[in-house]
Amino acid sequence: MNPIQILLASSVIAGPLGTLAAEPLTRVRNEVHIPDIPGYLTLKGDFHTHTVFSDGLVWPSVRSEEAWREGLDVIAITDHIEYQPHKNDIPTAHERSYEIARPVGDELDVMVIKGSEVTRSMPPGHLNAVFLTNSTDLDVSTWQDSLAAAHEQGAFIFWNHPGWTPQLKDGKVTWYPEHTALVEQGLLNGIEVVNGRQYVPEAHRWALEKNLTMLSNSDIHAPLNLDYRVRAGDPRPMTLVFARERTPDAVKEALFNHRTAVYSGELLVGKEEFLRPIFEKSLEFSHRQITLRGDKRLYIQVRNNSDIDYELEGNGDLPMMHFPWWLTLPAQRTVLLEVRRRAETAEGRHTLEIPYKVTNLLIAPDTPMPANLAFEVAFEP
Ligand SMILES: [Zn+2]
Ligand SMILES: [Zn+2]
Repeated sequence: MNPIQILLASSVIAGPLGTLAAEPLTRVRNEVHIPDIPGYLTLKGDFHTHTVFSDGLVWPSVRSEEAWREGLDVIAITDHIEYQPHKNDIPTAHERSYEIARPVGDELDVMVIKGSEVTRSMPPGHLNAVFLTNSTDLDVSTWQDSLAAAHEQGAFIFWNHPGWTPQLKDGKVTWYPEHTALVEQGLLNGIEVVNGRQYVPEAHRWALEKNLTMLSNSDIHAPLNLDYRVRAGDPRPMTLVFARERTPDAVKEALFNHRTAVYSGELLVGKEEFLRPIFEKSLEFSHRQITLRGDKRLYIQVRNNSDIDYELEGNGDLPMMHFPWWLTLPAQRTVLLEVRRRAETAEGRHTLEIPYKVTNLLIAPDTPMPANLAFEVAFEP
């Protein structure tokens, strides 16, 4: 054998009855590391995906394996009800994309949820219904009847991509009386704060004001890796679901009870009650008790065990101690936080909180989450 033949031979694994080609390295799951919060698992979901059964470009089972590779726990297949551009090649069959994707999800332990996209002009625009039992029931003439059919099945319904340019009114993201009516009837439970790579601050504000569940979904049509470079640290947008257990029922319960957050790019958006424990549980400190002698600097090592880079900015004065105004805590890295006594500080012991805000964690539009880092500090000569 020449060296190349030896190399090829060593890439197959000998089994008792023959050989099995080594799994190519592409079939690897990239786990997403975001900590659980007290009382709940932090599940990663995408509740808006398309296949060839509407205007998507992939076979449904591919969606299940993509989700597995990308570390997701749950996806919904949500082909359009009204928009079937491939129907000359693939007949309209509203149940089929789920029926094909689901068994592969079962094999890979990815939850696959049945959904549909009700695709209407504005208002009300496009709405996804997920946790359906029958999609065909939604194929009726009016959107009112379509959503009522979804609601009858116990579906969770949300407004898709409210910032989508073709459906803006005079260039503006607009809430219509029809949306108010839907909320009042229990037919609108959530809203996409992120769709694809677009964060919509108005949707974020409405979610808070109207108590709608926040979602962040890919709305993927192409093979995922044509639009996202997952292995290069560019995951698809995800809805973080704070669920009591890893089951479809628990996911549904969490969605109806607004226990979600939006994770997209380096942005994490959600209520403070969810974002704060994620941030705090991500971090480990080499010291929480420090002694500052004279004007000597001291390094505190801060480890970020999550996959989210945290961008910290000073958020007020700390009269006794110098601290870095800007501090990036990169994902899966340890950084040095340098502190030093201020010249005027007297000797003694204090509990000090370094005042920061995390600029990429938003608890409301334009409102970063404040996050003070507390230390027991002894000032000595
Ligand atoms: Zn749509
Ligand atoms: Zn869509």
